[in-house]
Amino acid sequence: MELIDGNRIAAAIIAELTAEVAALPGRKPCLALVRVGEDPASVSYVRKKETTAAAIGVTGRVILPPVNITQAGLEAIVDELNADPAVDGILVQSPLPKHLDELAIFRRIAPPKDVDGLGTVNLGKVAQEDATGFVSCTPAGIMELLARSGVDLNGRHVVVLGRSLLVGKPVALLALQKKAGANGTVTICHSGTRDLATLTRLADVLIAAIGRPEFVTADMVKPGAVVIDVGINRVADATNKKGYRLTGDVHFPSVAPLCAKITPVPGGVGPMTVAMLMKNTVKARRLGAG
Ligand code: NAP
Repeated sequence: MELIDGNRIAAAIIAELTAEVAALPGRKPCLALVRVGEDPASVSYVRKKETTAAAIGVTGRVILPPVNITQAGLEAIVDELNADPAVDGILVQSPLPKHLDELAIFRRIAPPKDVDGLGTVNLGKVAQEDATGFVSCTPAGIMELLARSGVDLNGRHVVVLGRSLLVGKPVALLALQKKAGANGTVTICHSGTRDLATLTRLADVLIAAIGRPEFVTADMVKPGAVVIDVGINRVADATNKKGYRLTGDVHFPSVAPLCAKITPVPGGVGPMTVAMLMKNTVKARRLGAG
């Protein structure tokens, strides 16, 4: 079994981007990070994005609207950032408080600044295999992890567990694209899927993105498969000083010995998501939307 080291691969991408930003003429790329409320996971994700941006030479602009901001208020912030020529990329951290329409906010971000890739135009470009768009960061990170780990999906059966707009659907479309590294045969499973384990056992490459701690067990995995664990779940743990530990959607201790390759949690897909956000922001600057 080979561990796919997301920290190492993300660090390589960050180093490449740092050199690219240093060589860019004119002002540095600018990423606006909008976080509404104090959801602890969102606080930590936005902080990580901010510090990574700073390390690369990308200017981070953090905007913290109050948790009771209205839909119109948040839309006005997005409109202002859309119109600001000094801003290249905009990310509105998900999840938003329940009273806000998250999808409407994602759609409102101008497509050339939609570096999180969750708006209609950029998701459409994934379906159209149009490389001028921004691929959302977690699915893009998964594809990059596979490519840089020498996993070619061509002709292989890829089973995606989960059909969210954030991960499952776009990663399935990417794996399906008719291009080098992709060209997989894709099955998508969700909560309505019957005989789930029968399908997951057919996977040459299994991508688990369901948000259920340690859901995928050894009996669900074909020996020799490549397993990508996207899940980030907080599980109560009194022995940990934070009171919780992070676990993936895969039961790592039983599944890892079976696999050809597997990502750990933490240290697998997570760091790649941040690296791909930076890559998209640098791309936005190069394309000159700001
Ligand atoms: P989500 O929006 O909650 O979607 C979960 C998907 O899994 C849904 O399609 C759901 O099916 C399916 N599902 C749930 N329980 C299932 C079950 N028992 N059997 C089969 N399918 C089931 O979650 P998400 O945003 O995609 O995130 C998934 C996980 O990835 C979470 O742990 C999240 O924290 C993590 N994540 C990590 C990163 C990263 O950077 N590493 C980024 C994003 C998300 P239905 O559609 O039928 O409801």
